[in-house]
Amino acid sequence: MPRPFTTDDYTARLARATADASAAGLTGLVVAPGPDLVYLCGYQPTAITERLTALVLSAGRAPALVVPKLERPDAEKAAGAPALDLLDWTDGEDPYATTAPLLDPAGRYGISDNAWAMHLLGLQAALPGTDWTSLTEALPMLRAVKGTDELERLAAAGGAADAAYRGILEVGFAGRRETDVAADLSALLIQYGHSQVDFTVVGSGPNGANPHHEAGDRVIRPGDTVVLDFGGLKDGYGSDTTRTVHVGADVPDEVQKVHDIVRRAQQTAFEAVRPGVTCQEIDRIARRVITDAGYGEYFIHRTGHGIGITTHEPPYLVEGEEQPLVPGMCFSIEPGVYLPGRFGVRIEDIVTVTGQGGRRFNNTPHELGIVS
Ligand code: ZN
Ligand code: ZN
Ligand code: ZN
Repeated sequence: MPRPFTTDDYTARLARATADASAAGLTGLVVAPGPDLVYLCGYQPTAITERLTALVLSAGRAPALVVPKLERPDAEKAAGAPALDLLDWTDGEDPYATTAPLLDPAGRYGISDNAWAMHLLGLQAALPGTDWTSLTEALPMLRAVKGTDELERLAAAGGAADAAYRGILEVGFAGRRETDVAADLSALLIQYGHSQVDFTVVGSGPNGANPHHEAGDRVIRPGDTVVLDFGGLKDGYGSDTTRTVHVGADVPDEVQKVHDIVRRAQQTAFEAVRPGVTCQEIDRIARRVITDAGYGEYFIHRTGHGIGITTHEPPYLVEGEEQPLVPGMCFSIEPGVYLPGRFGVRIEDIVTVTGQGGRRFNNTPHELGIVS
């Protein structure tokens, strides 16, 4: 187990978020239950319901957490709670009337993307002079640059996913359903310390050509190419890795050729990672390798996404994202080629930016894995 985050850790995050909000021209932030709340104070309500829970941050005012009275004892246990003023409201009271005094009636606030519309509407009705924007739009980099403790957790999650991949190479594929192999992957992730499995993609044969395919009833056959993409959370931080395997050692020439191209695209993009290079440039570099090899029209998604306390978050490695890479950022590099009705190939590693370049959190071999 890594060292748990302390009240001091949360105090520092709360102060930085408040300062970043001011720098972005906001009066403050209203944070709903979800990843941002976990990041800022370590509190996750047992269930996210219609009852309002909201963290309010604004310059010159202590951070305040508004909670339903019945959930107050849980909130008090959060490691970040000592850094917060706790306010509660009881069923039958108006939670927006409890929250309104914490807000500037003419203020401009960033609110969590996942806040319920009814809560934003309630706050707007209580304070018609306020102005609102999406937190991700206002502060896209709030959680993007990881601290040392977070990098350790992400590295450990990556190592556990790698162990799961080594394990899956040993199970039989031929004659079993995709869902059976997916269940094996899920069990391996848990065995190696994940508390939560977010996805186990097993895309065999033509199903591999659909990047959003999860796992289905298809029975895997000898000669299939299979995309394996899996991850979840370990000690609160995410893993996400993809390898492509072939059932049997008799690999068709085109499968090997496409795999070599994707592998080169992944490696070339990885080698380009260094501070100051933009997110879109990494996408362009991976895409150029695949386009130059004649498969550009079959690379149908962005090159990567950030990862942290969730498995998909900003920054996105996509055309139009001009955010420069900063040491401590963590994201996937996952180019792929998808030949409709035939097969798909994707290779994905989580990578962090260091002063010297990229460092991988996934380190299993990139070659086409052979399974039986
Ligand atoms: Zn993935
Ligand atoms: Zn991914
Ligand atoms: Zn994904």
